[in-house]
Amino acid sequence: MNNQIYDVAVIGAGCCGTSIARKLSAYEISVVLLEKCVDVGFGVTKANSGIIHAGFHHPITSLKARLEIRGNLMFDQLHYELGFPFKRVGILVVAFSVEEMKTIEHLYIQGVANGVPRMEICGRERILSLEPQLNPDVVGGLYAPTGGIIEPYRYVFTLVESAQKNGVEVKTQFTVEHGTREKDYWIIKSKEGDEVKARYVVNSAGLFADEVSKAFEAEDYEIIPRKGEEFLLQRNARGLPNHVIFPVPGAHTKGILVIPTVEGTLMVGPTAIETNDKNDVDTTSQNLETVFMQATYMVPAISRREIITSFAGLRPTMKGNDFYIESSKKQPHFIHVAGIQSPGLTASPAIGEYVKDILKQEGLKLVEKKDFDPFLPHPIKVRELSFEQLEQMVEKDPLYGNIVCRCENVSEAEIVEAISKGHTTLDGIKFYTRAGMGRCQGAFCSYKILKIISRETGIPIEKITKRGGNSWIVYQRLQTLAKKSVEI
Ligand SMILES: Cc1cc2nc3c(=O)[nH]c(=O)nc-3n(C[C@H](O)[C@H](O)[C@H](O)COP(=O)(O)OP(=O)(O)OC[C@H]3O[C@@H](n4cnc5c(N)ncnc54)[C@H](O)[C@@H]3O)c2cc1C
Repeated sequence: MNNQIYDVAVIGAGCCGTSIARKLSAYEISVVLLEKCVDVGFGVTKANSGIIHAGFHHPITSLKARLEIRGNLMFDQLHYELGFPFKRVGILVVAFSVEEMKTIEHLYIQGVANGVPRMEICGRERILSLEPQLNPDVVGGLYAPTGGIIEPYRYVFTLVESAQKNGVEVKTQFTVEHGTREKDYWIIKSKEGDEVKARYVVNSAGLFADEVSKAFEAEDYEIIPRKGEEFLLQRNARGLPNHVIFPVPGAHTKGILVIPTVEGTLMVGPTAIETNDKNDVDTTSQNLETVFMQATYMVPAISRREIITSFAGLRPTMKGNDFYIESSKKQPHFIHVAGIQSPGLTASPAIGEYVKDILKQEGLKLVEKKDFDPFLPHPIKVRELSFEQLEQMVEKDPLYGNIVCRCENVSEAEIVEAISKGHTTLDGIKFYTRAGMGRCQGAFCSYKILKIISRETGIPIEKITKRGGNSWIVYQRLQTLAKKSVEI
């Protein structure tokens, strides 16, 4: 049994928990990050639109707007240090009537008050010159050039790598079940039978923050999942815009968007439907119709024949619709990071900073590390290399010459690198390298990847999972075949 008492335990390795852990790794304190899944970033953070919002959608009186604006500003420096895919492509909100232009004016005024730089109200000609793919019936809109797009999983992986490099310990498959206070620290017990001690606890458990709060006998609140279905279209799809396209927003949602992803695919969605099931991530053909009707109204060239997959994510919302980030009034040294719905991804770097300040106010002594290293080496991606660069890499390591995923152009060397960083599930490899994310959705490369994982880790193929738990791949297939042969 490890008797170490950590200064801080952060529960949940989504974009919030990992940003907090990475921020704390710059100080002379011990930090442990606890995550119930087999890998990091497998919660809400893996299933979102990947937009770095500009900061004009919410009034500055809300905490989420303040953290969204600060978070947006922090992404250039983070991208420079960590190298995750990020582009400031800009955001357009498009209006199709004079009435909708009134909302555009409101968003502009709100954005100016929030301090969003370089926004512009556009007339029809200007907006069509920025985005020729738009429906020519467009009347005008808002242009916010500071909006951007990122790959959320790569963002989280690099945050964790950087945190680990600077001393943070990460424990996956640690499902926090119970917290008791003893002397001046918390004893945190997991469902798996492990135990960790820490002076301060940060609860950033996403959809399950309410349950974790109860487990520590802290505040009683409810996380209400709001489901969003998204549809992904192939690279270079028809209608692929240059900017993220938003409709004029409704009372509770930003609407159905058309999103050029940072890796060149096209995404449309998300819906916004409340559910009471924290595991409900099914997509439906009915919602596909709704999404495509609204998306093609804005960008008519989009074709549903180019869909390669669909997925759903659940926004962890709370009553009042704002973020709830504060110290518990019932329990000492327990901080809530809850209700982190959209724009949680955008706000996450600022949430890291904000929680660091709360911990300081709560008495945590923070002395900056002299040897904190914010940089990570940027990974080599074969699809981004010139022929000459690829030749040089193959000379150094022939595995760069073996292309495992042909759709996304991912080499065996990149897969081996992902495994060496601890990603040993099919989804972990997919999120780290993009192998299996392309047109064929892993039909050609999954088996090859299973064999590489098995070779590198010694895990038998039938024990390798898609995303941990019971999600075996070969086992399931054998079961299906066995069932079919009985039916025949
Ligand atoms: C469809 C959709 C689209 C979105 N689009 C955007 C967007 O474009 N831009 C934007 O800014 N935001 C967007 N968001 C919001 C954003 O994704 C979330 O705000 C953000 O991912 C929340 O991060 P988190 O770290 O709080 O939660 P999570 O990512 O869920 O992390 C919490 C972690 O805690 C773990 N956990 C839970 N219980 C326990 C336990 N008992 N013990 C240990 N670990 C536990 C979970 O496994 C999980 O990994 C979108 C959300 C959705 C659903």
